Amino acid sequence: MPAPDYDIIIVGTGPAGLGAAFHLSEVSPSLSILMLDREKICSGGLLNDCKQNYSYPIGFVVENWTREEAERLLPQVEKCLQPVFKEKKNLGIYQRRAERIGVALLDVRQAHVGTDRSRALIRRLMAELESRGVQFRLETEVTDVFDDAVGPGVVISNTGTLRARKVIVAPGRKGFSFLQQVMERMGIDYIDNVVDVGIRLETTLNNYPIVNDYYDPKFIFPDGVRTFCTNSGHARVVLERYQGFSIVNGHALSEQRAGNNLVNFALLKTIGLRDPVRSGQQMAVFLGRLANEIGGGKPLMQRVGDFRMGKRSTAETFNEDLYSFHPSCPVTAGDLGLAVPAKIMRHIWAAMKKLDTILPGILHPSTIMYYPEIKMYANKPAFLDRHFRVSRNVYMVGDGAGTSRGITGAWASGIRAAEGIR
Ligand SMILES: Cc1cc2nc3c(=O)[nH]c(=O)nc-3n(C[C@H](O)[C@H](O)[C@H](O)COP(=O)(O)OP(=O)(O)OC[C@H]3O[C@@H](n4cnc5c(N)ncnc54)[C@H](O)[C@@H]3O)c2cc1C
Repeated sequence: MPAPDYDIIIVGTGPAGLGAAFHLSEVSPSLSILMLDREKICSGGLLNDCKQNYSYPIGFVVENWTREEAERLLPQVEKCLQPVFKEKKNLGIYQRRAERIGVALLDVRQAHVGTDRSRALIRRLMAELESRGVQFRLETEVTDVFDDAVGPGVVISNTGTLRARKVIVAPGRKGFSFLQQVMERMGIDYIDNVVDVGIRLETTLNNYPIVNDYYDPKFIFPDGVRTFCTNSGHARVVLERYQGFSIVNGHALSEQRAGNNLVNFALLKTIGLRDPVRSGQQMAVFLGRLANEIGGGKPLMQRVGDFRMGKRSTAETFNEDLYSFHPSCPVTAGDLGLAVPAKIMRHIWAAMKKLDTILPGILHPSTIMYYPEIKMYANKPAFLDRHFRVSRNVYMVGDGAGTSRGITGAWASGIRAAEGIR
């Protein structure tokens, strides 16, 4: 039987892959570990914004995580990422206002790095792993994963095959199709029935000043709607490109950078498809394409003032005096009502009205609603144990495998797989 090339191969250098590598290299320093990534720079979602949430259930998928399990691992995540926590002010006041109208405001421990400083964090993490002997191969795409009679391994495009004793696959959300193909080829059952669909709001700081007291306030509204990923300081709405369509997202620079006086955050509704169970990914693609079709190849944006009046926004709407700021991500001015499914829009609009009652300002006519913001979560594999093992020697973790929904949850998932390998 040929000797494996490495003890461990990790596909993906995002937080899930890094979490596994840190844990394994700490507890078993003699292991040979190879990390592979198709991108030029390590490492996945840490590159964007890098807000870290250290309170369950934020970033964790509750079907896979108990509070106890998450709280056991979060201190290990903290030790590696060394967050500087944000202070919160007036939380009790906001919480009481929210509770009165049936809304919850979660108390979450948060840190923020900022897109401009995330590369320095990634370099520190890579250097630390390299000093422990972990090897990196970037710009290397894995096209397949297998676990045969000899053992597991990966196929690298144009190069060949590498074998290991154990393989951890952590390709993130963008590795969705890759993971699906691997699972189908390996005969691993999976389910893909959850998708988050919503809008991103952009407004001026004085319309949403809570961010001065609470960096990324997590409001939970009725009907499965929640606030997600709030950005302020120097904040921008950005495009995330998929095959044939774009969706919106947001990020901010670190607090050292001058502010642009804008705030953006998402309002997302979780959709669980069942009976008959259909693909959340397919639904996301369908909605994304529809919005881009209506927007002439781009997402849509509409001012709250126009939406309330039941009329579409136009290029002129975005130039008139009444409107006090320009969009940070100028997409196509239009009518969200044509693209957002009615039930989703109704629940999101109800949440916006409640939010404006708690924090008057968000319904200012100048506020911009961008659509679509969609989170295509995962093909959740049928796991064989609590360490996210999917075959004798292969583990699947992170956002792509549905074990997490954020940096800290992904990192903790990697640790859980590493504990299984130990
Ligand atoms: C714009 C944006 C902003 C975000 N901001 C935040 C935030 O502030 N806070 C937060 O908690 N979360 C944020 N997220 C989400 C966060 O990035 C993810 O939850 C997290 O990165 C998931 O970690 P992961 O390791 O599972 O996957 P990823 O971080 O996506 O890493 C997966 C890695 O696998 C590689 N890969 C994929 N397929 C292959 C292949 N076939 N071969 C080789 N390599 C492959 C990818 O290149 C990637 O580097 C943001 C996401 C985006 C898109």
